[in-house]
Amino acid sequence: MNVTTILKAKGRSVTTARPETSLLDVSQKLAAKRIGAVVVVGDNGDVVGIISERDIIRAIGDRGAAALAAPVAEFMTRNVVSCTEFTPVDELMETMTNGRFRHMPVIAENALVGIISIGDVVHHHVAEVELEVSVMKNYLATG
Ligand code: AMP
Repeated sequence: MNVTTILKAKGRSVTTARPETSLLDVSQKLAAKRIGAVVVVGDNGDVVGIISERDIIRAIGDRGAAALAAPVAEFMTRNVVSCTEFTPVDELMETMTNGRFRHMPVIAENALVGIISIGDVVHHHVAEVELEVSVMKNYLATG
């Protein structure tokens, strides 16, 4: 299984924000869309950062509620680790586990074409295991 398999099921839309967007606006996006991270893009749509719920909690913990009025550029992670559509899911899990983050933007020809969360990976893994179990059960019943 690779990233394309997961993107086919979940779709390719990615919630993005500009660096100057306030932390409050980004928090509202996360809440409205029930997601854990937003990719921050520059003028050409190029990825310039990622901001997750963890960064928002840290910002409020450090600076209090005043942080919500500040631009997301002050709190985002700039060194974004991304994958391609052909990255195997095992490799994706290893990168996320080693890097201690749960979101990976997918890049194709310098364009943002999707995002995979650890939840998406787990969901697909469970679906695969369920399929295997049902095939085995069927095999045993008819074999
Ligand atoms: P998360 O586990 O995704 O909530 O993120 C935990 C921390 O890692 C936060 O500081 C994020 O900004 C950062 N982060 C999330 N995804 C990535 C990524 N793909 N590359 C680099 N940092 C990331």
